[in-house]
Amino acid sequence: MAFEGLSDRLQGAISQVSSGGTITEADLKQMMREIRLALLEADVNFQVVKTFVKSVNERALGSDVLKSLSPAQQVLKIVDEELTALMGGELVPLNFSAKPPTVIMMAGLQGAGKTTTVGKLAKFISEKENKKRPLLVAADVYRPAAIEQLQTIGQQLGFDVYSEGTDADPVRIAEAALNQARLQGNDVVIIDTAGRLHVNEELMAELRNIKAVANPQEILLTVDAMTGQDAINVAQSFNESLDITGVVITKLDGDTRGGAALSIRSITDKPIKFTGQGEKLDALEPFYPDRMSSRILG
Ligand code: GDP
Repeated sequence: MAFEGLSDRLQGAISQVSSGGTITEADLKQMMREIRLALLEADVNFQVVKTFVKSVNERALGSDVLKSLSPAQQVLKIVDEELTALMGGELVPLNFSAKPPTVIMMAGLQGAGKTTTVGKLAKFISEKENKKRPLLVAADVYRPAAIEQLQTIGQQLGFDVYSEGTDADPVRIAEAALNQARLQGNDVVIIDTAGRLHVNEELMAELRNIKAVANPQEILLTVDAMTGQDAINVAQSFNESLDITGVVITKLDGDTRGGAALSIRSITDKPIKFTGQGEKLDALEPFYPDRMSSRILG
């Protein structure tokens, strides 16, 4: 399960000192050291850990933790609030255009779960946001398998897929798909763009060109939670190049240590909007930082 090690260690660190009633400044220091190690071991970014522990410590010293008869509960509350804040505080919902179609552009490295997430999002949006006619756009022209995968997902869900095969220019595909959406009255257009194994300038240039013609309300980056610090670096690069609007963290159902989920907001200043919790098309959840924090703290 995701966050398992982090959960155990954080809970352990906090409860460890509580048995004898009040705690000393040394106990608190020890607790902070444990919290720091727990976060580092969960692959949370070093700078993020430093800032986090500093604010928890300052709050603990500034409140009555040291005089309290239930210091563990008090620290737990502080850590819970700070974790929630670290992950963005509140749910940040999708932006929809006042004038349909709303355009959502998906980006991400190969294997991150981008194409699957296109399907999941289309399903989510049609069920939860009442946008009944999403158009899925196959602009990943370099991998025929990606186009077929999107077509299969479209068929499963009963949504139209716009494709021109592998010989067309992705920027032109995006343009033509938008024209079709306007003519057919699709209320949402979700563009599946190409991934690569690594971030490179050619990919970024193509994505910027698609952005320029599609003028998306959302540019969502999918990152694989299992890749830890790499996910953070990828998010930074995509954000610098594309100015993304949000992140979808996939594979949180796996046994990821959780560092990406905890670091990405603070490093990129872009919200996590959804998490992927499985391979099935209904395994997508809006991201509530407070619920995620509760899950981690048990
Ligand atoms: P893309 O190359 O980024 O388009 O990635 P795909 O959508 O093809 O997904 C790559 C693999 O990850 C596939 O086997 C998906 O089923 C799997 N996958 C995608 N999202 C999730 C998720 O949230 N959880 C799990 N366990 N697997 C996922």
